[in-house]
Amino acid sequence: MRVEKIALNGFRNYEWETAEFGSGTNVISGHNAQGKTNLLEAVYMLSAGRSFRTRFDKELIGFGYSSAEILADVVSHDRSQTINILLRQGFAKKILVNGVKKSAGELSQVINTVLFCPDDLNLIKEGAAVRRRLMDNAISQIRPRYGEILSEFNRLYEHKSRILKDWREKPSLLDTLDEFSDGMCRASAQLIRYRAAFAARLDQAAAPIHSEFSGAGEELSISYSTVSTVKNIYGSAKEIYYDICEHQEKHRQAEIESGQCLTGAHKDDLEIAINGKAARSFASQGQTRTAALSIKLAEREIFLAETGEYPILLLDDVLSELDTKRQEFVLNRIGGGQTLITCCEDEEISSRTGGRVLFVEKGRIR
Ligand code: ATP
Ligand code: MG
Repeated sequence: MRVEKIALNGFRNYEWETAEFGSGTNVISGHNAQGKTNLLEAVYMLSAGRSFRTRFDKELIGFGYSSAEILADVVSHDRSQTINILLRQGFAKKILVNGVKKSAGELSQVINTVLFCPDDLNLIKEGAAVRRRLMDNAISQIRPRYGEILSEFNRLYEHKSRILKDWREKPSLLDTLDEFSDGMCRASAQLIRYRAAFAARLDQAAAPIHSEFSGAGEELSISYSTVSTVKNIYGSAKEIYYDICEHQEKHRQAEIESGQCLTGAHKDDLEIAINGKAARSFASQGQTRTAALSIKLAEREIFLAETGEYPILLLDDVLSELDTKRQEFVLNRIGGGQTLITCCEDEEISSRTGGRVLFVEKGRIR
């Protein structure tokens, strides 16, 4: 999969500009605040129909403009395709693939990206929610059924949380508590099976990447943790369901008293360790970056195995804080599909890549 050419019209700080990308590594270089991340954001839009930086499409429209347009030639599934995204103040966005109207969700059937941005360092250092989001995003892209179960689970979770929060004012709410708990146990069992399989694949794919990337043969390991009573995370949905019910029964009273859901897949996590030590507590800045990026690269390998094509890899600001050896890995040894890497204007870095270099200055690309 690759994007060959992109034209931006009134998008962020791009008045009217086009860029052509090579099929391998592309380094997007420039000083701060020139439009490097904006360019990456536009490519990300092609796969997701939305930004990774804002929920509000109107923020993407250039200051003083009433509309913005992204037009791109991409190649995927051995086909040349055009994607056109039109944003207008006060109107819903319009997405066309080869001239045919599509929803934002349908873009993932045309082109996929794996993005690494500075926020992804939270994968290693922050709470479990970030790691659950990683699992949820990745699995729902390759297993549409997972997305459906997840929505159902979230619906049940919200409803049950409301019961637990409000029952003191309205005790009759408790009449339906067990029904929601049971639904959550069933949906959790299904989510756990998908997540356990995904985590195992992620672990398998990330370990060799991290080992090579670190140069020092550091050992990265990822393991999945879920409801404590689940004996076999690879078991059948029925077995897992019974195990969760056991936890639910033990915690029913505590849930009512504390007003919180204590049983279910909403507390799942990935435990990430480097050389056997919890990365969250012990990883250095460089190690944190290396581990987070290795996980993203592993996600890309899983995609390849599933779809037969590498998604486009978007790396925003990964090079800072990495030593020369680790930078060299990012610049020249990622290999496989197309990669777009932003970095701060640095002749030295640009000269060290075998790929194409694009210089960005005040919304112009050369
Ligand atoms: P850094 O190296 O600091 O990350 P960058 O090159 O990645 O810089 P961008 O995030 O791409 O910088 O932003 C470039 C400029 O675009 C910023 O000055 C920002 O204020 C501007 N900008 C953001 N949104 C809009 C918009 N809607 N209209 C016009 N300009 C915008
Ligand atoms: Mg930037």
